[in-house]
Amino acid sequence: MTAKLDPSVRDLLLPDARNWLDRPPLSPFIDGAFRAARSEHRLPVVDPGSGVTMTEYVTASSEDVADAVRAARAAFDDGRWSELDPEAREARLRYLAGLLDRDSEAVAQLESLDTGKPLAEARLDIAEAVAVLRYYAGWATKIEGVVIPAPRRLLATGTREALGVCAAITPWNYPLPILMYKLAPALAFGNTFVAKPSEQAPLSTVYFAQLCAEAGIPDGVVNVLPGGGATGAALTSAPGIDKIAFTGSTRTGQAVMRAAADTLTKVTLELGGKSPQLVFADADWDAAIKGVMDGIWTNAGQICVAGSRLIIDRGIHDEFVTELVRRTRQLTIGHGLAPGTHMGPLVSAAQRGRVNRMVAHAVAEGAEAHDGPTPPEGNGFFTAPAVLTNVAPGTQIERDEVFGPVLTVVPFDTEDDAVRLANNSCYGLAAGVWSTANDTVHRVARRLRAGIVWANSYGIFHPSLPFGGVKSSGFGRELGFAGVEHYTELKTTVIDLGPGPAN
Ligand code: NDP
Repeated sequence: MTAKLDPSVRDLLLPDARNWLDRPPLSPFIDGAFRAARSEHRLPVVDPGSGVTMTEYVTASSEDVADAVRAARAAFDDGRWSELDPEAREARLRYLAGLLDRDSEAVAQLESLDTGKPLAEARLDIAEAVAVLRYYAGWATKIEGVVIPAPRRLLATGTREALGVCAAITPWNYPLPILMYKLAPALAFGNTFVAKPSEQAPLSTVYFAQLCAEAGIPDGVVNVLPGGGATGAALTSAPGIDKIAFTGSTRTGQAVMRAAADTLTKVTLELGGKSPQLVFADADWDAAIKGVMDGIWTNAGQICVAGSRLIIDRGIHDEFVTELVRRTRQLTIGHGLAPGTHMGPLVSAAQRGRVNRMVAHAVAEGAEAHDGPTPPEGNGFFTAPAVLTNVAPGTQIERDEVFGPVLTVVPFDTEDDAVRLANNSCYGLAAGVWSTANDTVHRVARRLRAGIVWANSYGIFHPSLPFGGVKSSGFGRELGFAGVEHYTELKTTVIDLGPGPAN
């Protein structure tokens, strides 16, 4: 199928990206090869910036899911990956990271087209994916066991071993970085992998499968199932999987966990958020305004850690909001690949509809909307960023995840008040604190119920920094040493040395 992208957009693409859109429909990648279509069910891959279908893909059938898990199981059980010397796994993963780096601009273009995000953001995503892969490649040769101080006649060791087959269901907002948070530690320690990218943005994950083949990752070690409809549910209930990592909505996370209970499969869940940004009167205003804007306008607010609740000292509320709205109105909304775009469209018409309905409901409940710049005309799924003041605590917009460019503002009077407002959420993924007083920062950071707290900054990710949530934001951590713990199992080996010579 030929992409119907506007020629002005198409001409911006590198040949690798253009060829990827022009190839026959994407299909499942199983046991080292792209499968001929088993299913008649095809889904379009839509450019959210123009609403046109760029290509389409064949969704994985239930037989494909079973085959992918079987292939991953066989690849694990015969040791073609898990029993390689760690140096060999590290070298192979570093080579794979190099290939992704080599193709990073083409992959960034595909990611921008698929998700709608500005190309500059997509470039950072691909760079992050490469960095995470390299970080865990290094762990393959660094992980050590322990000798346990058991009774003297015993020699007891603790060693970390691979889990087996790991599966991932990944979302559309950060397709490749979030895939890598799961795949990189899994592969580093010898596990095999089945990935199910989101139906909204499958391009980069399927492209990555091709790089795995080029890198010489053994057949069956990485399998990719572009889904749609029931693929995720089929994967979570498939026998033969040892671990499932899911990133997405809290509701689907609950379904994943229920299914995993039947097979006693390990689960980590990175779910929604409603993250607060607390701005104290003594904050560095320039940095705080920039941090608040980046925290909510990046990726048009479609981020699990979006700093979607501004909780601000009443004394600076009006002046801060005026400046925030003034700077927001200077943002350029446009196609992700258009030079100068600060904010792209939402990922789909459905997502835009959901966001716009939530804003309308908030206004009906008494909130005051300060709209940002006018979105472009056309068929793209654009929406205006909105700052909402006069938001009553407990209303839907204050409570529920929007996953769009919508910031609520609530004033506080005291530090206790600020912490209480911040923690008054079923979510607990991230939080930001802005103050030039170190004691305020430390005191408040301690009291916030969140998996990660950024102080005088927001949204800093690094392969070494564990990430995940509390409460309805999920459990388990990704990145850093947490990735080692969640993709290995501790084995205790006990050798009875006997009583020893009598003396
Ligand atoms: P969902 O959480 O509903 O996830 C959808 C994905 O899960 C799809 O890929 C789907 O694949 C799979 N899935 C659906 N049902 C099941 C099931 N029973 N078992 C296993 N997998 C399943 O996200 P949406 O994309 O629909 O977005 C809805 C909202 O979720 C957003 O508005 C946002 O609030 C939140 N979200 C949060 C993200 C985060 O980063 N934490 C990321 C994305 C969304 P298939 O159809 O192939 O089965």
